[in-house]
Amino acid sequence: MSAHADPHCIFCKIVAGQIPSRKVYEDDELFAFHDIHPWAPVHFLMVPKLHVASMAHVGPEHEALLGRIMALAPKLALEQGCQPYPDGGFRIVVNTGAQGGQEVHHLHVHVMGGPRPWARG
Ligand code: AMP
Ligand code: ZN
Repeated sequence: MSAHADPHCIFCKIVAGQIPSRKVYEDDELFAFHDIHPWAPVHFLMVPKLHVASMAHVGPEHEALLGRIMALAPKLALEQGCQPYPDGGFRIVVNTGAQGGQEVHHLHVHVMGGPRPWARG
């Protein structure tokens, strides 16, 4: 586990390979994996390898990292089976804090898509 990880964080453990996941993508800064309880036919999570607790913790120093996640999401969405815009498309969600519905406190971007109906949402 890297020096920038939180040893108690489930997503840091996934990034480090200490908890198994179904990997979608990995590079030096980012990791993406399928959500274990999918809401939609396609549902994966994109996380920075760096432990950032939530969107509420994001500052100017994270601009490039967040930009990379957002710029990569459409490509991964298509690769994972989302259908093309405009008839297909996808939904991007970042739950933040208790009232925002955040359960795992390592910043993650949900990418959901595929034919409806969805299990939720
Ligand atoms: P959130 O409510 O935005 O914090 O969402 C956390 C998401 O992480 C939920 O959709 C969970 O299904 C998902 N999740 C939790 N543990 C795992 C895991 N071990 N592997 C994959 N997804 C997970
Ligand atoms: Zn973490």
